[in-house]
Amino acid sequence: MFRKDLISWLCQRPYTVSELARLFQCRPHEVEEDLRHLQRSLQHQGKRLHLEPARCRHCGFRFRGKLRKPGRCPKCRRTWIEEPRIWIE
Ligand SMILES: [Zn+2]
Repeated sequence: MFRKDLISWLCQRPYTVSELARLFQCRPHEVEEDLRHLQRSLQHQGKRLHLEPARCRHCGFRFRGKLRKPGRCPKCRRTWIEEPRIWIE
């Protein structure tokens, strides 16, 4: 049930993991797990999970492949990081 809802939400607009955790009242790591499952199962439905990577707002460094916001930028060591956004197309 949860995953079905997740798909219909993510087809509307991009969300961050923490937004989804708030909306579904669960923990971010649970959302992350569901998204990882979706990544695999969507392929059979001709849909794809897209990820706008987390980005350091200070130096522009991009964190590829991460669904959740990293704590600190490896390049400039700042913590001013934009959360990754996820959607389905
Ligand atoms: Zn940086």
